[in-house]
Amino acid sequence: MNFTEMLQSYTGKPLADCTNQELYLALLEIVRHKSADKVQPVTGRKLYYISAEFLIGKLLSNNLINLGLYDDARAALAAAGKSLSEIEEVEPEPSLGNGGLGRLAACFLDSLATLGLPGDGVGLRYHFGLFRQSFENGLQNEKPDPWLTAHSWAEKTDITYPVQLAGKEYTARLYKLAVTGYGARTNTLNLFDLDSIDESIVHDGIAFDKTDIDKNLTLFLYPDDSDEAGRRLRVYQQYLMVSAGAQLILAECAARGCDYHDLADYAAIQINDTHPSMVIPELIRLLGEKGIEFEEAVEIVTKTCAYTNHTILAEALEKWPRAYLDAVVPQLMPIIEKLDELARTRTEDESLAIIDKDDRVHMAHMDIHFTHSTNGVAALHTEILKNSELHGFYELYPEKFNNKTNGITFRRWLLECDPRLTQVLEKHIGSGFRKDAAELEKLLAFAGNEVVLNELTAVKTANKQELADWLLRTQNVTVNTKAVFDIQSKRLHEYKRQQLNLLYLIHQYYEIKAGHLPAVPLVSIFGAKAAPAYIIAKDIIHALLTFSKVIAQDPEVSPWLQVVFVENYNVTAAEKLIPACDLSEQISLASKEASGTGNMKF
Ligand SMILES: *Cc1c(COP(=O)(O)O)cnc(C)c1O
Repeated sequence: MNFTEMLQSYTGKPLADCTNQELYLALLEIVRHKSADKVQPVTGRKLYYISAEFLIGKLLSNNLINLGLYDDARAALAAAGKSLSEIEEVEPEPSLGNGGLGRLAACFLDSLATLGLPGDGVGLRYHFGLFRQSFENGLQNEKPDPWLTAHSWAEKTDITYPVQLAGKEYTARLYKLAVTGYGARTNTLNLFDLDSIDESIVHDGIAFDKTDIDKNLTLFLYPDDSDEAGRRLRVYQQYLMVSAGAQLILAECAARGCDYHDLADYAAIQINDTHPSMVIPELIRLLGEKGIEFEEAVEIVTKTCAYTNHTILAEALEKWPRAYLDAVVPQLMPIIEKLDELARTRTEDESLAIIDKDDRVHMAHMDIHFTHSTNGVAALHTEILKNSELHGFYELYPEKFNNKTNGITFRRWLLECDPRLTQVLEKHIGSGFRKDAAELEKLLAFAGNEVVLNELTAVKTANKQELADWLLRTQNVTVNTKAVFDIQSKRLHEYKRQQLNLLYLIHQYYEIKAGHLPAVPLVSIFGAKAAPAYIIAKDIIHALLTFSKVIAQDPEVSPWLQVVFVENYNVTAAEKLIPACDLSEQISLASKEASGTGNMKF
């Protein structure tokens, strides 16, 4: 059966008569079946990557590429007068992440499947994600991002686990999302949710009753934590994720013959930042229920779990007031207390304690004491952890510290989002870079080659035109494609210094006013969401939007300078911006950016 026949067997009518929606659903079904064929049995140790975020992006094209169906699909659709990129616009972007940490989780899943390694994700199925950003009157406006449709990639299962929250039993339901590898195996992203969630309780943007756990638990990623109810809600979310996740892991290992004493031979659990840290006491608790003594359970969990640190900003390291944990997870507090006592037998340094004198529970400290590995995400970041931020821990456990420099998947960030560049690269260096980025070094041989450089320039010009068309279509903004495209897109944060970029642009404005014209016009493009409770970040957006308007209304300046702020920066927007960029702004405060992955994509 050729691809056209296969598609028609799902649509039940000629492709030319189908809507993009019908074609999208048919493609989704084909991908589902083809990816299910590539699920492989697990042998040896399996990785479970637990993360509050998975910023996976749209999946249709990515899955078609990974399954080797992309060219066939595009040709079959084109023959029927249909466009794959238009069909892709039907797909809502899954709203399961926020920034680099979540994108890293998604890139790891792609990489694991591509390398043929057994590695699944564990997270939550947020109904409205972070939020959908729009700009109104020069201000960020937040609305729910309703990405879950009747036909979502994540499939409902009959698998459920009981989870005790504040003394009440809830039922966590598992949804499974297939993660395809490039020419390789299919893994799973396991997402948990409650059947009782009620989307209708959200009102006035993203407001809702933060205490109504049955209805609100998985509505949003990172609910506003500027009040106590919001902070408690985060604890509820985290425990739902790790308790259901831990039960899933134990069940899968048991099904493979594990007797729990040798859990570490069957499972490796990676804790992505501190949001999943409660998996440590939760596993100890569950192993206790299976008859394993505390001391042995601690040993098993330490061998099984590893922790990734993502930040050197002290205020970003989670410390929960003990009272929250007493209220939400009373079953864990006795275990956390015993872990604190045990840690205190290893060191007298009060600053390394899990429970401090103010009765706050330091999640990162629990991770470092009771996992076998703590990694930073770039060489410099890991050195800073060892030498200053976590120095006391490094002295206690030098063998636990290691570096794993972040990376990005080339399947999405090159093959999928920049097909023109991919084609030029393949012509000159072959296709090895599709799976091995180091092969890009072969390009060095062409450093002075005018012909190749001209080809690359032509790719950039075409990509800039495509971005200009997209900006016109989606934001009604016209940009000069002859200008330098200078892009800063990432979460809005003071340490990332969008405000420094703004100061530079204001300087440019006055230069132009004074008659000092630049050699080429500049289009400065921003994309960034600010956390809803982060006032200064929202003020920076306000300043940029207002400045953009001032320039646009000034005929002396506007031919030379333009500021564009892309609404709702997400993976879809990143895939448009990055291939069209002349100059990428990586200007965060030295030593405050743990790694940065936007830089690698640009
Ligand atoms: C890669 C990526 C990020 C991370 O960007 P940084 O510049 O490393 O902060 C954030 N958001 C999206 C949508 C991304 O694709």
